[in-house]
Amino acid sequence: MQIHIPTPLRPFAGKQSTVSVSATTVAEALAALTSQFPELHKHLYTDEGKLRAFVNVYLNDEDIRYLDHKENARVTEADSLSIIPSIAGGAPVAEAPIAATLTPEEMGRYSRHLILPEVGEAGQLKLKNARVLCIGAGGLGAPLTMYLAAAGVGTLGIVDFDVVEASNLHRQVIHGTSDIGRPKLDSAEDSLKAINPNVKIVKFATKLTSENALEIFKDFDIVADGTDNFPTRYLVNDACVLSGITNVYASIFRFEGQASVFATEDGPCYRCLYPEPPPPGLVPSCAEGGVLGILPGLLGIIQATEVIKLILGQGEPLVGRLLLVDTLGMHFRELKLRKNTDCPVCGTHPTLTKLIDYAEFCGLPSKATHPATIVNGVPQMQATELKRRMDAGDNLFVLDVREPYEFAIAQIGGHLIPLGDLPQRVQELDAKREIVVHCKAGGRSQRAAEFLAEKGFKNIHNLAGGITAWSDYVDASVPKY
Ligand SMILES: [Zn+2]
Repeated sequence: MQIHIPTPLRPFAGKQSTVSVSATTVAEALAALTSQFPELHKHLYTDEGKLRAFVNVYLNDEDIRYLDHKENARVTEADSLSIIPSIAGGAPVAEAPIAATLTPEEMGRYSRHLILPEVGEAGQLKLKNARVLCIGAGGLGAPLTMYLAAAGVGTLGIVDFDVVEASNLHRQVIHGTSDIGRPKLDSAEDSLKAINPNVKIVKFATKLTSENALEIFKDFDIVADGTDNFPTRYLVNDACVLSGITNVYASIFRFEGQASVFATEDGPCYRCLYPEPPPPGLVPSCAEGGVLGILPGLLGIIQATEVIKLILGQGEPLVGRLLLVDTLGMHFRELKLRKNTDCPVCGTHPTLTKLIDYAEFCGLPSKATHPATIVNGVPQMQATELKRRMDAGDNLFVLDVREPYEFAIAQIGGHLIPLGDLPQRVQELDAKREIVVHCKAGGRSQRAAEFLAEKGFKNIHNLAGGITAWSDYVDASVPKY
């Protein structure tokens, strides 16, 4: 006879949707199934050997609880069994069910969901009781939170400590022109409440850190990672794995994006994909490399879709798959991701069992431990210090390693040699002079300074925070971009 395996249990049944067994009763059929796939046993049965309360078994179209002989009901080769877990998907659902009904207003609001068999009233209640934490109210966080709020996700947590800037508005559609200068959290809350006042918004006006992440995560079922930097991305991943919370991931750069679902019970995590971060400066951030405004909209909505599917327990989540989106060619490709048994955080013998210093892990100066820093042998100069030295008439040579189009937007009188041209043009520089290298935010200039040090330059500084820090701390009339 055939046993139909639901999507969330397929990973434990050799990824098969149906399994054939020989049996004369329902109990025998289930025993044959779990002896073939021992991993399934703990998902179907309690320690006492009883079928779990949220697992229903149907013989053809009848729930076996309602059959005369229940599990001992006789079966033939032509019969089929279906396992129907009431709570499916990778997301642990809130332990205490809060709402058991929809209000008349909600019935009207969600009517197009309610008539979808895959959602229905039961699904809409799952959404209402779900608690989703979004890291960042920026490019990805904007569409993500707006669609989750619209869809009726009951509790939305948002972690963000930025204020809205003009350069955010070409993509962060949750904020408007009149929000410039406001905390993103407040602006986002206003927009989300306007979309759906039923949603409870929980604001965390803080930077996510190793000290607060587990405490913040513990009240949520799913985390959606909308961060734009490597230290936070590794922090989110590790905190999700350690807390047993699914991590719905996306990242964007220029015209391309990636998305996946990490840290489900049996799926891979971000570290299985990328065990270590790239060295600082190698992969520019969106602030440095630019991003097509629409792109985070597209990827954020893919994230929102995955979140909703996980809550509903419908469809095939992006577990073990990396979706690659190329908007210029408009290609969507998919790569298989495997769980790495040697993964330091989710492998069979994890070496990472608590959160670490992620700035240090990513090769960035850790603010907590090194207030005056030397990074990889390169002294870091603060913008205010550079200004003081310039005003004092010191014989400094300022080297700008950004691209010409950035130089056209804003500059502080540096000599322009884009990072990529530096090896060919290094003879333009006087190795005896004291040189301060800058870029937009400090990443590319750090690499340039390290390159010059290797070439024998002795007196090199990196401008910490780049021209952005100059705008922030020295001269606000230098445009930020
Ligand atoms: Zn892993």
